[in-house]
Amino acid sequence: MSANLISGNEISASVNHETAAEAASIAAEYGIQPALAVILVGEDPASQVYVNRKAKKCVELGIRSEKIVLPADTQESELLAVIARLNADPSIHGILVQSPVPKHIDEQKVVLAIDPTKDVDCFHPMNVGRMMLGDFSGFLPCTPWGVITMLQRSGISPAGKKAVVLGRSNIVGKPMAAMLSANNELGNATVATCHSRTKDLEFYTKNADIIVAAIGIPNFLKGDQVSEGAVIIDVGINRIADSAAKNGCRLVGDVDFESVAPKASYITPVPGGVGPMTIAMLMKNTIRACKAAIARGQTK
Ligand code: NAD
Repeated sequence: MSANLISGNEISASVNHETAAEAASIAAEYGIQPALAVILVGEDPASQVYVNRKAKKCVELGIRSEKIVLPADTQESELLAVIARLNADPSIHGILVQSPVPKHIDEQKVVLAIDPTKDVDCFHPMNVGRMMLGDFSGFLPCTPWGVITMLQRSGISPAGKKAVVLGRSNIVGKPMAAMLSANNELGNATVATCHSRTKDLEFYTKNADIIVAAIGIPNFLKGDQVSEGAVIIDVGINRIADSAAKNGCRLVGDVDFESVAPKASYITPVPGGVGPMTIAMLMKNTIRACKAAIARGQTK
């Protein structure tokens, strides 16, 4: 079998096209421009790249972007004060603090400080809880929502399938398992969550119809660990040394593409897979935040 490639570049482009149209229609109907504030604390190069990508995508889609860069030695109280200012600003609809924050800042406090109505990353317990209860009409966690959208737009229904999620992080693994097993048309899979303490991982992966890999280990999942015809979604983004590459490194996923692709029915590439979907869903959450603000009575 040779796998069909699920292109995150193509699917995210169609999602982004819809988002741009929604932003334009909100502006035309209400005179309001959806706006996203992105806060970066410190100078982590990867975080700078992510923040710049998000800001650029906002501009492309007609969403106003406010980028706030704070020095690495910013005190927790100062960051919380910036968040409080943005919470109170009606012209800002979404707020995101780029992770990771420096070690002296309590990330959980930051998550809890963001007004849940502006929590476009869907990290606040209120929004996570709402999603866990099966209400998908509010914010949804960007990366798992991106994966679900890739499946949906590739005509792959998780209903009745055996799905395995590798990884149990709060950002990807846990919400991914919840969305795949949700009692709605996007879910209905039977899901196993595997993690670093899972014994006999192959037992799960070899029996899976759908595998979502989110563990952060380069080329971890090999062809002999998956069944013929499985759908493989690779969330991993790992930088590995490559002397042939211009900057001495290249990106690979958590899936060993070379050995897995010949067995899979569908597979996502890295780069150009889940990565662009995550940003596309962040933009969609920002539109949802803006629409909800309008529904609550915001007029400008
Ligand atoms: P994390 O580092 O927070 O957690 C890793 C998870 O993998 C843990 O739950 C751990 O139990 C599990 N794990 C570790 N070793 C394992 C093993 N041998 N077998 C089974 N499970 C094992 O992970 P994260 O933040 O969810 O990120 C995972 C990967 O996804 C990383 O490469 C990250 O860069 C990438 N990521 C990509 C996107 C995107 O937009 N594409 C978004 C978020 C994360």
